[in-house]
Amino acid sequence: MAATNTYDAVIVGSGITGGWAAKELTEKGLSVLVLEAGRTILPERDYVEHIPAWELKFRGWDNRAERMATQPIQRECYYACDEYSNKFFVSDKENPYSTDPNKKFSWIRGRQVGGKSLTWGRQSYRWSDLDFEANLKDGTAADWPIRYADIAPWYDYVEQFAGISGQPEGLPQLPDGKFLPPMDMTCVERDMRDALAKKFDDRIMTIGRSAVLTQVHGGRAACHYCGVCHRGCITGSYFSSISATLPAAQKTGKLTLRPYSVVHSLIFDPKTRKVSGVRVIDAQTRNTMEFKGRIFFINASSLESTRILLNSTSPEFPNGLANSSGELGHNLMDHHMGAGASATMPGHEDKMPFGNRPNGIYIPRFRNVKTKQKEFLRGYGYQGGGSREGWGRGNRMSGFGADFKNALKKPGQWRMSIGGFGECLPNHDNYVEIQKDKLDAWGIPTLKINCAWVAAGLGHSRDGNGAHGTRSENIRAERAQSSARREEPVHDRRRLHGLQFLRQSLADVHGADRASVRFRRLANKEKRALTS
Ligand SMILES: Cc1cc2nc3c(=O)[nH]c(=O)nc-3n(C[C@H](O)[C@H](O)[C@H](O)COP(=O)(O)OP(=O)(O)OC[C@H]3O[C@@H](n4cnc5c(N)ncnc54)[C@H](O)[C@@H]3O)c2cc1C
Ligand code: SF4
Repeated sequence: MAATNTYDAVIVGSGITGGWAAKELTEKGLSVLVLEAGRTILPERDYVEHIPAWELKFRGWDNRAERMATQPIQRECYYACDEYSNKFFVSDKENPYSTDPNKKFSWIRGRQVGGKSLTWGRQSYRWSDLDFEANLKDGTAADWPIRYADIAPWYDYVEQFAGISGQPEGLPQLPDGKFLPPMDMTCVERDMRDALAKKFDDRIMTIGRSAVLTQVHGGRAACHYCGVCHRGCITGSYFSSISATLPAAQKTGKLTLRPYSVVHSLIFDPKTRKVSGVRVIDAQTRNTMEFKGRIFFINASSLESTRILLNSTSPEFPNGLANSSGELGHNLMDHHMGAGASATMPGHEDKMPFGNRPNGIYIPRFRNVKTKQKEFLRGYGYQGGGSREGWGRGNRMSGFGADFKNALKKPGQWRMSIGGFGECLPNHDNYVEIQKDKLDAWGIPTLKINCAWVAAGLGHSRDGNGAHGTRSENIRAERAQSSARREEPVHDRRRLHGLQFLRQSLADVHGADRASVRFRRLANKEKRALTS
């Protein structure tokens, strides 16, 4: 039997955006219901960042057969979806979607209270007017209705609450924020930063701007550099819904958080011509319910929110709510990533990195800033990091026995790696649609994702891993080698970053601090020495 409950505001999803909506609306005095499809997360029970590998059945390497059966897509987010933290990613079996065979799309999702805020990379960069004016200037899609000046105070507001550590640089293309003190660079990162500054006048290297606290902030403790944030953070040192926004909302006494509440669709009232409620399936009992409200925030992530709207059909909106134009679900965008380079860095044999810094370096966009590229629009930035190889380098070495193991106890070489993150332009042919006959575990129609790269992104990729004037000695590196030059659509983050052996390093894609990762054995045709 259907139950009915009424609130001032109903929020669907408790991830990064849902958490913020809950905080803001409850603090303004509204009674707020947050409907979350996944389970409750209790840090003291669910966070596993301090559990040593030897306490896990597969020592952190995971039960690969089980993972392939239940999370074949999520495991592609290899650095984060491991034996510890696969529980923070959806079950692909229960939450299916389709693609055409030649249009692979790896949809990485979290389905629990906190959503992807538990596993995100925490890199936090402001847009500038270079971004807000780009559509107008290059005639792409619609002009943004706002400019940087409109949003700058809101960046301030969000950053001050979340706590973003970073280094002001005074760059027009990457505005500075309200930063906590920056994290330190490693010795090889400092070398490369200084070398870049000396050799180039169009690019700099800075420490990553990260939603990780470098000092006590808002009652949350500073980071202690354990370095495996995707397993949770008992000290609440990185920004997540669980560490920051939901506790603030709860403090007001105005929040009702309902886990295991899978929103099916929105109810449209033809008399008022407004949304009046949501249809919910209880994930545990499978009972259906309805919740009413005055305002509704759909924060289930880009694609899940679109799916809810497309499933919200009525005589007035037979193709889904807010879809009279037929555009809902079109122009799907993602950033492309992976083109980059790695190198060994000479010297500093007497030094070691400090702890497991959960952050890396950033080289902000330098293409199409002062000068114009003929080959492509806009630009890309690099994330990466420099660290010293540990025992994990043994994965790619031959050898066995005591001598081999003893040799691996000594630190290896210093390495530096960078990977580009480029913008994707809207394309009407990249879209999602509802498949009425393919249902998820709760009987809700699922998505088919139709998405492929078009030429604009490829230019970035080629440029991003090209030499463009860089010689190894310019960045104080040796044996620099470009990596993962890709011309096919890629949403496979593990392959892109070549990060198959990250267990030892504990680093993540956005940090690559302990860059003792095993770089993917790329086919020779995909490799190209930077200085060749
Ligand atoms: C591996 C990885 C690394 C990333 N790193 C960065 C980074 O460094 N910097 C950055 O800016 N961004 C990063 N992102 C992107 C960032 O995580 C997302 O942009 C952000 O989490 C989106 O917030 P959201 O609230 O829209 O969705 P989410 O955080 O995904 O939250 C959506 C919530 O809605 C719930 N939900 C879904 N469907 C329903 C339903 N039908 N009913 C009820 N609830 C539902 C989900 O369970 C989930 O809790 C990363 C993403 C990934 C996957
Ligand atoms: S590295 Fe810092 S932010 Fe990450 S889990 Fe450890 S203490 Fe928390």
